[in-house]
Amino acid sequence: MLQEVHVGHKFLADYQSVVVRPLIEEIRELAEGLKGARVLHINATSFGGGVAEILYTLVPLMRDVGLDAEWRIIMAEQEFYEGTKITHNALQGNAIGLDETQKRIYEKNNRLTSESLGKGFDFIVVHDPQPLLLRHYAGDLGAKWIWRCHIDTSTPNQEVADYLLPYIQHYDTALFTLNDYVFKGLDIPIKVIAPAIDPLSTKNMALSPEDADYVVSQFGVEPDRPLLLQISRFDPWKDPLGVIDAYKIVKKEFASVRLALVGSMATDDPEGWSFFTSTVEHAGDDSDVLILSNLNNVGNLEVNAFQSRADVIIQKSIREGFGLTISEGLWKAKPTIGGNVGGIPQQITDGESGFLVDSVEQCAEKCMWTLDHPKEAKIMGRAGKEHVRANYLTPRLLRDYLKLFTELKG
Ligand code: UDP
Repeated sequence: MLQEVHVGHKFLADYQSVVVRPLIEEIRELAEGLKGARVLHINATSFGGGVAEILYTLVPLMRDVGLDAEWRIIMAEQEFYEGTKITHNALQGNAIGLDETQKRIYEKNNRLTSESLGKGFDFIVVHDPQPLLLRHYAGDLGAKWIWRCHIDTSTPNQEVADYLLPYIQHYDTALFTLNDYVFKGLDIPIKVIAPAIDPLSTKNMALSPEDADYVVSQFGVEPDRPLLLQISRFDPWKDPLGVIDAYKIVKKEFASVRLALVGSMATDDPEGWSFFTSTVEHAGDDSDVLILSNLNNVGNLEVNAFQSRADVIIQKSIREGFGLTISEGLWKAKPTIGGNVGGIPQQITDGESGFLVDSVEQCAEKCMWTLDHPKEAKIMGRAGKEHVRANYLTPRLLRDYLKLFTELKG
């Protein structure tokens, strides 16, 4: 089954003060040739994780510039999501693949879902592996089909990659975040397009220090103590346990430091709960470690407040397709430390606009340097913000999609 996600209104005109004018003009020009085009985005969840984050802005902006865009999510039985999480992990390099039963569940749910697609779309953009098989079961339906992979597929479990490859081959084009992620043996047109954040969303809009302090104080964060922060799903690839270990090292030098781990529970992530429990256990009874989720009412404004208030933003991932949280931290001009993997080095130039780390010890060391050098860290944060402005804000992503649609239409 496919369920429509209702998005609010957004206006490209509002972004004129945040990005350069030629970009806005280019978008308007491209949109002129695509007026009324029907675009369908399909993914697996409307909540939690980067894809939902992107679509909440991209879809209304596509509408604002004249396209008839909509967003639907695939709704399936629990076993389907267990299988797709295995697929996700396998594509990021995990040795465990799908067994035959799991493959049949994956295929069955895609086949049944394909029956409710309907016709009349000009472009169908399928995000990530969960709905990937729709193109195979639906036929082309007179649309151009685009598969958008958001995952770090640089060193995939080859058996799973080989199983998916023929299904990807049915698409008119595939989009990846980095060249390194392109599936070996894929011979359809490929584009490399980075994701983006919405600078005007509740999560990223400017928040005064007073407002940020007030919001985080509701969660017991004191204004005068240094705060380390990681915002991410409770997922081993995001390495929250490593972040806790780094914090423990920092704590020996900076006794007043606190750590906040904020992670949402995505509906398509059945592993989230058990890993949440492991994370809580790993933190032990240290009351200076705060572990929160959307179930504690940490929504977009609260995430913004934590990011705006943090002294150091960490994203110590071991694999990371892109890592929107890095751009979100840098957009707030915050000292940001990221794992040296996947899309993170695109966003952070080590030592200039943040730090890239390969270990717990390095992460701790860079946190301590940052706490010791607030002025220098601020300069780095500002450099990071300008890098994000130039490359990772939604109008650029919108432009890239419109360019692609124009090419496919031609
Ligand atoms: N996020 C959130 N609340 C949380 C945890 C994450 O709103 O408790 C958001 C985060 O701000 C970012 C997105 O979820 O916008 C995560 O995207 P990212 O690319 O970093 O990772 P993904 O979850 O897609 O692997």
